[in-house]
Amino acid sequence: MKQTAKRIHLLSGALLMTAFLWISALNIFAAQTSGIVDYADENGVRGWAFNSSQADQPLEVKVVITNQANGQVAAELTTEASIYREDLAAQGLGTGNCGFDISVPWESYGEGTFLVETYAGGQRFSSKLYGKGIPASSQLRSLGVFRTTAYCPCRQCSGGWGGRTSTGTIAKANHTISVDPRVIPYGTRIMVNGIIYTAEDRGGGVKGNHIDIFFNTHGETRAYGMRNVEAFLVQ
Ligand SMILES: [Zn+2]
Repeated sequence: MKQTAKRIHLLSGALLMTAFLWISALNIFAAQTSGIVDYADENGVRGWAFNSSQADQPLEVKVVITNQANGQVAAELTTEASIYREDLAAQGLGTGNCGFDISVPWESYGEGTFLVETYAGGQRFSSKLYGKGIPASSQLRSLGVFRTTAYCPCRQCSGGWGGRTSTGTIAKANHTISVDPRVIPYGTRIMVNGIIYTAEDRGGGVKGNHIDIFFNTHGETRAYGMRNVEAFLVQ
């Protein structure tokens, strides 16, 4: 990805605010099934799922676990959202009998970071990461499919800027992404391809739903090429 006019510092507060509101708006699910994975930890996956149109009947929850290292599904587990939780009753979710708690044999899936996605009635209602160094309560929100490209500190990719980012940091592989801050505000943590990055750079050629991923070498940049992948907001 060529980035000639690399740094543009014309962002107004109003634009940043618009970007935050835009990302918040993505968190609202229009469909009837609501729910969340509260925790994915060494014991398993816990959360709740509720659909007001079948409030008297527990939802069947499918938990799909994907190894982020190879993109392969490690397991598909099924459970019922029927555990009583006082906090859910207090939120007005039926009688509050809509929690679920499923144990997960992580060790049998091998090493790696796992994406945990939960479905009810065929609809994905929540997703979360499980792996080393990932807080058990962190939330993932899909931002949809983004065009992703790669860049490095070379002159062709970064002009004379080298590894310096537009926010003043030194770019690091597996950490730095370049974004359009009107779409993804600086400092936002974004997961793509199973790796959690921080938005801390921008390039003139990075517009809209486009993420430019920092690599150390131009060889890696070429190997990455261009990929359309789902991006997740890590909260
Ligand atoms: Zn390069």
